[in-house]
Amino acid sequence: MNSEIATPEWDAIVVGGSAAGLSAALMLGRARRRVLVLDAGSPRNRFAEHMHGVLGNEGTPPSELVRKGRDEAAQYGVRFAEGRADSVEELPRGLRVVDEAGAAHDARSLVVATGIDDELPEIPGLAERWGESVLHCPYCHGWEVADGRLGVLATSPAALHQASMVRQWSERVVLFSAALGDLDPAFEARLRSRGVEIVPDPVEALLGEDRALRAVRVAGGREIEVDAVFTAGVPRPHDGFLERLGLDRAELPFGMGSFLGVDPMGRTSHARVWAAGNVVNPMANVPMVIGAGASAGAAANGFLVEEDFDLAQEAGRG
Ligand SMILES: Cc1cc2nc3c(=O)[nH]c(=O)nc-3n(C[C@H](O)[C@H](O)[C@H](O)COP(=O)(O)OP(=O)(O)OC[C@H]3O[C@@H](n4cnc5c(N)ncnc54)[C@H](O)[C@@H]3O)c2cc1C
Repeated sequence: MNSEIATPEWDAIVVGGSAAGLSAALMLGRARRRVLVLDAGSPRNRFAEHMHGVLGNEGTPPSELVRKGRDEAAQYGVRFAEGRADSVEELPRGLRVVDEAGAAHDARSLVVATGIDDELPEIPGLAERWGESVLHCPYCHGWEVADGRLGVLATSPAALHQASMVRQWSERVVLFSAALGDLDPAFEARLRSRGVEIVPDPVEALLGEDRALRAVRVAGGREIEVDAVFTAGVPRPHDGFLERLGLDRAELPFGMGSFLGVDPMGRTSHARVWAAGNVVNPMANVPMVIGAGASAGAAANGFLVEEDFDLAQEAGRG
């Protein structure tokens, strides 16, 4: 082994300590790796009071899952630091993560699980109801508003699919279609065949008491009564801090934009960097990102296992 190359302090740094990152950290910790989780503490679902569709954690508050996950990972020696990664640079046999406060953390491998921001439509009354009566996904929140008057606020062609989906949870669905322009008459007829109402006027505001929703006001002043609205923001991945590594990217469908490219285990185009969760797949819910995080953590450990043998052989042991 080249004795001039220092061994980094950590076997793995996991950037992002929510569902995906904690799952990766749990795998790495149980593999007896020295693991640091660096987390800025703002999971995507922090706007919702409860999580749904998460086996074993049905109805659990999002913050409770993070608390449990941290406790479980800590049992295996995983350490935690609060902060936001600002940049990552190469070391001879590893990577250096520098946080916004300027602290440097060196590791042999990196798992990125930093999630996304939902860039929401700029409509008065919308953002403050996000996660309560303005919802992103019927699998997560459809049951709670089932049989209510449900709106679907189109932001991209994917809304046509969303309107069909939401119809499964209620017979009273209104598609606010202004963002789509003229609809394909065949598809419009298909939606109407199951009673989906289509309102083409631009939406001006969402109205109601506190975080509850009462109505959607459209251009011309008409108010359409709804109990909840489903919509989609533009997903913005938290991956700018990786820029110096020049990782390969892939364009996702439905105008979701450019995301890090990964293999089925979450490995990026860099041999020491994995990415998992919403940062690479904005469509994934909590159980999906837990699975992806577990894959990435195991794959990072697999890489370290092989490197341990490589280093032993380089050192002439065997
Ligand atoms: C309103 C709402 C409600 C939802 N409800 C449900 C539900 O009921 N059921 C369900 O299954 N899914 C739900 N989801 C989806 C769920 O939020 C995501 O699937 C899940 O949070 C993705 O987990 P993640 O670990 O990939 O990212 P996140 O949970 O977003 O965690 C990313 C973590 O990385 C941190 N971070 C970001 N950048 C940096 C950086 N540079 N350095 C350090 N740390 C950083 C963040 O602060 C955060 O703690 C909901 C989403 C929304 C928007």
